[in-house]
Amino acid sequence: MNHDVIVLGAGLAGLAAARDLRAAGADVLVLEARDRVGGRVEQAVLPGGRLVQLGGEVVGRAHHAYLALVAELGLSLVPSYVAEPGRMVRATAEGISAGDPPHWFGPGDDAGHRRVTDAFVALARTVDPQDPWSHPDAEALDRTSVGDWLRSEGASPAVVRLWEIGQLALADGSCERTSLLAALRKHAAVPGDDAYAYEDWEGLRVAEGSATVALRMAAELGRRIRLGAPAEEVAVAPEGCRVRLRDGETLTAGAVVSALPVGPLRSVAVTGVSDARLASLHRQRQAVAAKFVAAYDKPFWRGLGLNGLSECEGVLGSTWPQSEGVLSALIPPERYGVLLGMPEAVRDRELLRDVARLYGDEALEPFTSYLRLWGTDPWTQGYVTQWNPGDVMAVGPLHGTHEPPFYVCGSDQWVAGYMEGAVRTGRAAAQEVLRHG
Ligand SMILES: Cc1cc2nc3c(=O)[nH]c(=O)nc-3n(C[C@H](O)[C@H](O)[C@H](O)COP(=O)(O)OP(=O)(O)OC[C@H]3O[C@@H](n4cnc5c(N)ncnc54)[C@H](O)[C@@H]3O)c2cc1C
Repeated sequence: MNHDVIVLGAGLAGLAAARDLRAAGADVLVLEARDRVGGRVEQAVLPGGRLVQLGGEVVGRAHHAYLALVAELGLSLVPSYVAEPGRMVRATAEGISAGDPPHWFGPGDDAGHRRVTDAFVALARTVDPQDPWSHPDAEALDRTSVGDWLRSEGASPAVVRLWEIGQLALADGSCERTSLLAALRKHAAVPGDDAYAYEDWEGLRVAEGSATVALRMAAELGRRIRLGAPAEEVAVAPEGCRVRLRDGETLTAGAVVSALPVGPLRSVAVTGVSDARLASLHRQRQAVAAKFVAAYDKPFWRGLGLNGLSECEGVLGSTWPQSEGVLSALIPPERYGVLLGMPEAVRDRELLRDVARLYGDEALEPFTSYLRLWGTDPWTQGYVTQWNPGDVMAVGPLHGTHEPPFYVCGSDQWVAGYMEGAVRTGRAAAQEVLRHG
């Protein structure tokens, strides 16, 4: 059967694109490799019925596309961990401290940190997040790592370390392997006085569970979604596109929207689009990460005056309270190999030891825990976009653009990943498809 549009991938991007196409009257089919929708948003049910998020979880006030979608779906937003009272903990091999300044700061480091932050914010104002390539110093900014730039601005090793621990807490790649231009572009997309505006990026969460956003859209799309249907080949042509599934079945459509993460997309044989586009898409990468969730009877860290938020140099890079008594944690790319090296039987225990170092031995006894290895999941192969020095120029201005009748969307096609990137690019791709008829 011939369709108007085939959408590859039933993550937030693919579902948002398909929902808008369907609303406009298009005959749309979504092909999803897994046996569930949602992609990098996924939730599990705790004994007692509460939901825990194993993937994307929080959003921010600046995430306008996502917030609008949540309202359309009749879901509600509540403050996230950012509103939690108490102090944050930082833990390194040689020490641990609650609140600011971190224990490794010495005289002058606070002022030095503020100075380089102000310089970063000012430099970010010169970058157009939609078109970083047009910056007069684009090449040089892209070649420079955030770490090298900090040192060139006179940041002390202690200040660089604070930036690094913050970066790994978000499970982004190291400052030493992040393009300055990419970091400035991300900041320019959601500006603020600090290097990362927590409230604007992470101040809210969907009360019904972030994966419910995907489930609601899937319910609207019903039988227009086919699960267990990995695409292996896409042949694009103005007179019609063909998609071959792993089992050999071939489907046809007037247009194809790829809502696949960049890793799995590299395994799909795409023909009929320009070499430049394929080179750009295949040049993108993701930071690999894992998420760990530990559920306790109560948020015992509060009794210590702590908010459950941490930045740490263990195998874990960070923790934060997901909901009452539930701690989320990320294993950043630089430590993912260490995690994989752990025998499976000891992984949870060793990660809980990291948590106990922050909050005491009560942390060793959650009533349940989950470890989700997104970095090595074949249908994700990552976590969030990663831009090494040189990557912004190498991917180039084709990033996030279309070549009708081949369209792309997904969080990797926005400046910095995130659920906002998925929804924003998914809905924009649908508009482009409709515009081209
Ligand atoms: C641990 C973790 C924590 C995160 N935390 C946050 C957060 O707090 N806030 C935030 O905003 N973002 C967060 N993110 C990022 C956010 O979840 C993602 O950026 C977003 O959900 C990606 O949506 P997407 O639709 O672009 O891609 P995906 O969700 O990855 O969807 C792509 C879909 O394509 C499918 N697929 C892959 N290959 C094929 C194929 N060949 N054929 C058919 N289907 C295929 C996949 O199975 C998947 O369903 C987090 C991500 C992770 C992993």
